[in-house]
Amino acid sequence: MIQKPKGTKDILPDEVYKWQYIESKIKDIFENAGMKEIRVPVFEHTELFSRGVGETTDVVQKEMYTFEDKGGRSITLRPEGTAGVVRSYIENGMASQPTPIKLWYEMAMYRYENVQKGRLREFRQIGTEVFGTSSYLADVECIMLGVKIFKELNIPNIKLNLNSIGCPECRRKYQEALREFIRPNLEKYCDTCKTRFEKNPMRILDCKEKKCKEMNQGAPIILDYLCDDCREHFDKVKKMLTDLGVDFEIDAGIVRGLDYYTRTVFEFVSEDDGLTVLGGGRYDGLVKEVGGQDTPAVGFAMGAERLLEVFERYNKDVAKQKVMDLYVANIGEKANEFATELVLKLRDKGVFVEKDICERSLKAQFKYADKNNAKFVLTLGDDEVETKKAKIKNMQSGEEIEVELNADEIAKVIM
Ligand code: ATP
Ligand code: MG
Repeated sequence: MIQKPKGTKDILPDEVYKWQYIESKIKDIFENAGMKEIRVPVFEHTELFSRGVGETTDVVQKEMYTFEDKGGRSITLRPEGTAGVVRSYIENGMASQPTPIKLWYEMAMYRYENVQKGRLREFRQIGTEVFGTSSYLADVECIMLGVKIFKELNIPNIKLNLNSIGCPECRRKYQEALREFIRPNLEKYCDTCKTRFEKNPMRILDCKEKKCKEMNQGAPIILDYLCDDCREHFDKVKKMLTDLGVDFEIDAGIVRGLDYYTRTVFEFVSEDDGLTVLGGGRYDGLVKEVGGQDTPAVGFAMGAERLLEVFERYNKDVAKQKVMDLYVANIGEKANEFATELVLKLRDKGVFVEKDICERSLKAQFKYADKNNAKFVLTLGDDEVETKKAKIKNMQSGEEIEVELNADEIAKVIM
């Protein structure tokens, strides 16, 4: 038998309704904040990601699904959402619309990862991107959307970690200090870290290898190297969050896995298992890097599978599957025809109603209604069709009600 590829997941009907629940909550939260949904292609030119996400990131060096298409182009399945949204922002001239441009998305992402808990090869991210404002207020707005999502979904034990990784200017000095710190041990670092030493030593701080992590202990922190503007920006973010009563911790270790971040970076981590559910930050250089006008931006992405996992932990029976209002059982040719028309009319009225489409016996039809927890069952035979009267049974109480056989009447009884 052919099985699904490693790191992918079937989302079966028994789980889909929980997805729909969190998706509809989050959609409302975003849209009430003036965010508009955007959908971009699953695949893009590889160069978009190597330039946007960064040549020295794990994502680009190890995790991309890249292939040549039949026209000889190098194509990559999107490993993250921001680069594609930025490309679309530029290509569609969104810069000429009134700022800020506030977008959100829910899209599947593809990364060739070491599959483990919370780490898949096809996963979904729900995210937001805000273009055209360099103000600390935009950083705060994004962070508060994250706070709101966890609150609205009733998910406790979420910790907000915050850092600033400055701008290219503060980073130059910092990277020198970091290289000095690493240099004496450089030979002992993993091969990937060695290749990043010259080009992008900050990536070494994000290495997941145990020995590299150990050697990184005591490394200089970027917060000590922030330029005046970056420091002031970060101070304002912290003050505003404090004034808004949001708990956060400064984590100087956050560098994030993607190269485009500048200034504020943040993560929402579940304290139950230490998994990062949401990660984001400012990326003031990315739009220009990808070929647009110099445009500041900030955003975040949530791992939807991870979000659903913590949601389920605390919300056992909140998301409810839709229950069948009515099952129309029938026997005989005339009754079948009548039932078919009746069901179509009831569906026009918004009733969740089913009837037999397998040409099964009455007994088998009752069994189906019962197994699928129908709230009411209406039984039709030739007599009922003749007299235009029939009985509806309330499956919970066992009570039977006689009704006129028309859609309005039936809808009134069961709704
Ligand atoms: P990490 O350091 O954990 O690999 P990252 O820096 O690669 O994270 P982002 O690219 O910023 O993470 O992704 C944002 C969020 O998307 C993560 O916090 C996580 O919730 C989710 N995510 C990232 N990679 C995966 C994956 N392979 N499977 C499931 N969810 C993921
Ligand atoms: Mg990663």
